Amino acid sequence: MTSTPPPIPGIHHVTCIAGDPQENYEFYTDTLGLRLVKRSVNQDDPTTYHLFYADAEGSPGSSMTFFPWEGMQSGRVGAGQVSTTAFRVPEGSLDFWLDRFEEQGVDHDAPVKRFGERVLPFRDPDGLPLELVEGPDAGVPWTESVPEEAAIRGFHGVALAVRDVGPTAELLRTMGYTEVDGEAADDRTRFESSGDLGAVVDLVPTDREGTQGYGTVHHVAFRTPTDEDQAAWRDSLTDLGFQPTPVIDREWFHSVYFRGGTREANTGGVLFELATHEPGYTVDEPLDELGSSLVLPPKFESMRSQIEAALQPLSTDD
Ligand code: ZN
Repeated sequence: MTSTPPPIPGIHHVTCIAGDPQENYEFYTDTLGLRLVKRSVNQDDPTTYHLFYADAEGSPGSSMTFFPWEGMQSGRVGAGQVSTTAFRVPEGSLDFWLDRFEEQGVDHDAPVKRFGERVLPFRDPDGLPLELVEGPDAGVPWTESVPEEAAIRGFHGVALAVRDVGPTAELLRTMGYTEVDGEAADDRTRFESSGDLGAVVDLVPTDREGTQGYGTVHHVAFRTPTDEDQAAWRDSLTDLGFQPTPVIDREWFHSVYFRGGTREANTGGVLFELATHEPGYTVDEPLDELGSSLVLPPKFESMRSQIEAALQPLSTDD
């Protein structure tokens, strides 16, 4: 067994499935006020977009990304999936958000209190379950459509729907998470890591069958800041009986994927990714131009005209 790698500080990004890219863009930028930091294509299917929304600098722990798959069926949130993705907003800002959601007709519930925090549950236009959670300041907020005192800072955390809490709880402890005591009003178990953003993972037991489709999360990526950290975690997970993929170059970070929560044949469990901080979203665009044009990984550059012709035009003018 190799030595234990440094604890994982939190989430790097969350990748979800959407329906219409234009509707997705307008909700995440205009309504939620995130910044489009990368407009690219799915590297495994370059005829569909991969849209990245984040804070002003695309900080690790702030990016929500989408594959808008036209013709995809609506999904069903259930076991083996991220069931809710929560964003951090400043203390005292939920009233601003409640008014905004009322005005804009966003599908939401009344705020609830959980683990001493104020939580506003809502859904995006595809029905993806989301929350805003008040908490300490972090990240570099993008303030184009939401004022700084209310702007989303990045992730608060995710909830994972699991059939059996035990194996995922054990994996999270291995990754450096510790169980948190507190009042949840349901049977969730909370784990927390050390990061300033995206440090929370809740486990919610369910027998409900999940199906992938728009309105569901595809995978959650955790931060392994350096390539060395990632390699050490890859070795460690392999020693524990998981089956992590080789390192894949995703242009803006390096990725390793594995199924969390079970060690049998890499099946079942939520799809986890380990992603590095480097090289980051500014590797191929200057900071002030992030998201302003279609960026393709070099291997797709020769196919740019065909790819652009296959993509639904995305209007980003206000
Ligand atoms: Zn990913």
